[in-house]
Amino acid sequence: NEFKQLGLSDKALHAITKKGFEQPSPIQKITIPVLLSEDNDIIAQAQTGTGKTAAFGLPLIEKLEGQPKGIKTLVLVPTRELALQVCDEMLSLAEKRVVITAVYGGQSISEQQRRIKKGVDIVVGTPGRILDLIRRGDLDFSSLQYFVLDEADEMLNMGFIDDIELIMKHTPDEKRVWLFSATMPDRIVKLAKKYMKSPKKLQV
Ligand code: AMP
Repeated sequence: NEFKQLGLSDKALHAITKKGFEQPSPIQKITIPVLLSEDNDIIAQAQTGTGKTAAFGLPLIEKLEGQPKGIKTLVLVPTRELALQVCDEMLSLAEKRVVITAVYGGQSISEQQRRIKKGVDIVVGTPGRILDLIRRGDLDFSSLQYFVLDEADEMLNMGFIDDIELIMKHTPDEKRVWLFSATMPDRIVKLAKKYMKSPKKLQV
């Protein structure tokens, strides 16, 4: 089982076995060791359905477990379906090592505010709802360490560029940005140039 050679903890390997993953996918093989051992901004080109949630989720869980309470990672995704899917996948990989919640439009905001107040390590959300929660003062990003842009090309296609930039402005400078995108059009490269520090490029 090649997962054992990627530098993951026994706890992570337990969750992986429980999920029935037998071998790491190509994006996982490339991404996991780098994210575990280095602390770069990264741009990864990966299609949907290739296992990219575990590719960034497993290293995040390893890095965040045992840290003081507070939002340490924001994962931005284009749709509510993806927010739920990414959150569920990370929950099953985390086995309670970190607290993860999904926020998105179309669901009662008060319920989401309540979950955030109880204390979360990772917030997965859609741009509109994240901005709404920022404006209401519910998201404290002062201890944010990682900002993941998942399906960045989709978010740009859906017109979320201004929202993404606004959200960026509410996050600390020292964070790492991990950008995942199926395609790398000019607009993604521009976004990366503006917000990332010599990002490492990872490609399957
Ligand atoms: P994702 O691309 O992250 O949306 O993952 C797509 C699907 O593949 C999800 O159902 C994952 O649980 C599953 N998956 C991710 N990594 C692996 C793996 N190494 N082996 C088998 N299935 C996987």
